[in-house]
Amino acid sequence: MLSYTTTPVQEIHHSLLKDVQIQLLIKREDLNHPLVSGNKWWKLKYNFEKAERFQHQTILTFGGAFSNHIYATAAAAHELNFKSIGIIRGEETTPLNPTLTFASKMNMKLHYVDRETYRTKNDPEFIEHLQKKFGGFYLIPEGGSNALAVKGIQELAQQLNVDFDYLCCPVGTGGTLAGLISGLPDQKQIVGFSSLKGGDFLKQDIEHFVGTDKSNWKIETNYHFGGYGKQTPDLLNFIRNFESQHHILLDQVYTGKMLFGIFDLIRKKYFKSGSTILAIHTGGLQGRSTDL
Ligand SMILES: *Cc1c(COP(=O)(O)O)cnc(C)c1O
Repeated sequence: MLSYTTTPVQEIHHSLLKDVQIQLLIKREDLNHPLVSGNKWWKLKYNFEKAERFQHQTILTFGGAFSNHIYATAAAAHELNFKSIGIIRGEETTPLNPTLTFASKMNMKLHYVDRETYRTKNDPEFIEHLQKKFGGFYLIPEGGSNALAVKGIQELAQQLNVDFDYLCCPVGTGGTLAGLISGLPDQKQIVGFSSLKGGDFLKQDIEHFVGTDKSNWKIETNYHFGGYGKQTPDLLNFIRNFESQHHILLDQVYTGKMLFGIFDLIRKKYFKSGSTILAIHTGGLQGRSTDL
C-alpha cells in the first residue's frame, strides 16, 4: 500500500465570491503524498494492489517526456519495490528534463519510441513486442486511466466529507472525471475542465466508464489555452496572482486552467448564487513551469 496523508479542504476568500455569494473550496489532494501526488495516487492505488496480488515484479506504462503519470508511477514502483519501465513518446533528449531525471532516479527504465510507433501503444502486436523485449509486466495504460483507476477515484469522491453543490476537476484523459461522476450521487453537478483542445472523444471515453444515462456532468472546453501543454501570458498571470493571494501553488497544465475556468464561469453567472463549489487540486506540481 502506498503511504497516504489525509488532506484538508481549504476555503478561498475573494471579493468576487462574496459579491456573488458563492463559496469556493479546494480539496488539497496535492498534499496526499510527496511524490505520488493528487489524482495519480488514487489512479495507481488499485493498479498496484492488483500487480502485488498477481505477484508481478515489473510495472510498464506509457507517457510523454513531461508526464505526471510517468513521474508518479516511477515513484510508486520505487516505494513498493517494483521494477518499472516507461515507454516514452519521442526521441531521447539529453540532458534529461526534470521529470525523466526523477524517473531514472527511481530506477525506471526509459525506453523511447518514435511518435508513429507510440500511436500503436494499445495494439496487441506492440504489447507482444514489449513482452518479448522486457519479459512479463503489469501494464498500466497512458495516463493511468483504466477501470481500476476509476475505482480509486470513486473512493476519493466518496470520502469527501464536506457539503457542496458543484465538483470541479481538470481533465486530461478523463479517468479522474469518470471516477468522480460514478462515485458521487446524481444530485451533485460535476464539471471537468479540459486541458486539451476538442472534448468530443473525451465524452465517449467517460461514457465508457460511467454509462450514458448520467446527465449531471459536463466538460468545459473553452479553457485549454491553445491545447495540451500550451499556455498564454493571461493564464500565467492568473496563476501568479492566485498563488500570491491564496498561497496555493498551481501548475499551468491542469490545475491553473481549471481555476481560471472556475473564476471565469463565476463571473459569467454559471454557478447558482448561494452554492458551494468544491474544486479538486489534482497535484501535478512536479511539472510546474519555471517561468512562474
Ligand atoms: C494527470 C492529471 C490530470 C488528468 O487526469 P485524467 O484522469 O487523465 O483526466 C489532472 N490534473 C493533474 C495535476 C494531473 O497530473
